Amino acid sequence: MALQVYIDGDYYSKDDAKISVFDHTLLYGDGVFEGIRVYEGCIFRLRQHLERLYSSARYIMLTISIPLEELTEVVAETVRRNEIRDGYIRLVVTRGEGTLGLSPWHCPKGSIICIADSISLYPAETYEKGLHLVTVPTMRNRNESLNARVKSCNYLNNILAKIEAHNAGCIEALMLDHNGYVVECTGDNIFIIKNARIRTPPTYLGVLEGITRDCIIEIARKKKYAVSEEPFTRFDVFDADEVFLTGTAAEAIPVVEVDKRMIGDGRPGRITKELIAAFRERTTKDGHQVYPS
Ligand code: PMP
Repeated sequence: MALQVYIDGDYYSKDDAKISVFDHTLLYGDGVFEGIRVYEGCIFRLRQHLERLYSSARYIMLTISIPLEELTEVVAETVRRNEIRDGYIRLVVTRGEGTLGLSPWHCPKGSIICIADSISLYPAETYEKGLHLVTVPTMRNRNESLNARVKSCNYLNNILAKIEAHNAGCIEALMLDHNGYVVECTGDNIFIIKNARIRTPPTYLGVLEGITRDCIIEIARKKKYAVSEEPFTRFDVFDADEVFLTGTAAEAIPVVEVDKRMIGDGRPGRITKELIAAFRERTTKDGHQVYPS
């Protein structure tokens, strides 16, 4: 069966799922989105993802034409129609068709698009062996320019960083802010562990408030680890016993080398592995169940 894509109330097969070339999301990256996982028929933290989508839309003054409860059902129905049990959902709200100028008020109605498909981000062996990161020259957007908590369709900042990482032979980039503090990676949040103390950069530095990040913080605190959101520099990363990344697509993944400095003993750390295992256990339970049990 061809993939069924939801656009504004109807379902289209993949080849027929189209929006206008005058949509400002295509012309300017003017829109918002979410990436969401499905685990064994459970849409992981769907409500939290939708709340973030509405918050992002509010920030850019974009009206989502249906309420959150209705959108919940749209997402669930898209998953059911595509018979997805384990997969990835891309939910996009566009600014809509407008003129060639920037002005969003010439776009009377945005579109809601929901795609449910599969995804694999990093090669399977990187979850066992750990990732290598490189710090890139492109800095993460300053909050004063584009608040990183807005999950907007304008990802050029992250894509430039991704290209720089790739040019340096790595698949993910470490991004800093203009003061040299560690912020996040191109599509993942970062955690460091030193003497069993877990740290991740605070959102005010220009960090997307990741839903996987939130979940890992909750799990770690439940396990009685000290977890803090505080600024740190590359010194702390190089000096850490363990480093890992979190993100919907990446899930939770160990990092074993940063800028050619080996992290810890160069293998995924004990606490990292413990947290990843606990996270995996949660994924099938913590969310919206799509199929009747
Ligand atoms: N930071 C950035 C820049 C991201 O794009 C993402 C999502 N891919 C994350 C962090 C992780 O957020 P989440 O856990 O909600 O997917």
